[in-house]
Amino acid sequence: CGIVGVVGNNNAVDILMQGLEKLEYRGYDSAGIFVNNAKGNKNLIKSVGRIAKLREKIGMEVAGTAGIGHTRWATHGQPSEENSHPHASADGEFVLVHNGVIENYLEIKAEYLSDYPFKSETDTEVAVALIAKFANEGLSIIEAFKKALHIIEGSYAFALMDENDSDVIYVAKNKSPLLIGLGDGYNMVCSDAMAMIRETNEFMEIHDKELVVLTKGNVEITDYDGNKVERDSYIAELDL
Ligand code: GLU
Repeated sequence: CGIVGVVGNNNAVDILMQGLEKLEYRGYDSAGIFVNNAKGNKNLIKSVGRIAKLREKIGMEVAGTAGIGHTRWATHGQPSEENSHPHASADGEFVLVHNGVIENYLEIKAEYLSDYPFKSETDTEVAVALIAKFANEGLSIIEAFKKALHIIEGSYAFALMDENDSDVIYVAKNKSPLLIGLGDGYNMVCSDAMAMIRETNEFMEIHDKELVVLTKGNVEITDYDGNKVERDSYIAELDL
């Protein structure tokens, strides 16, 4: 299982698919991507089985400048298209990929989301539903995400997008691997440096319980209370 994201690159689909192929070795039962662009085109495509099957489904037409992708190792809910990631909120506005296990998802469901029209059996959909709920109550996406992160317990690598905003990916992690890849005029996020090495060898760590706002030209890291974190990037010398 793994996640990948890219913002600010015309070849977003290709970069996501290459990333997912490189993440295959981690094991998965299904995969999916979400991509959008500044013209408002957006696509959410998922498939059970091999990445090659997802590729077929995507075809040649789908393109974008930003997106997130996921290979799933099912923990909550069987491998199926409904349970595959990315998961969108009921209004379609927020789209999330997640690796890990949300330990208190049943409690969250009972306390905050008893009326929510869930489409999957995953713990992940509870997270995107919670973010959407807080956003619908008037919070900005970043504030809604932060509020949800204070409530969610367990392991996660999250990458979140607003379906109408191709400029930003919101990222957070706890006890699941995730790091930033700095490209030339664009940026990436991924579970594994090796899955980004074709694009870049400049990386930036993300520590547990940090929130990253990723745009094509900037990486802004804070803790969950909004305090800014300074972090240097590093060049990896990987033997290929
Ligand atoms: N717990 C999530 C699910 O079952 C994510 C699994 C994963 O890490 O791929 O969908």
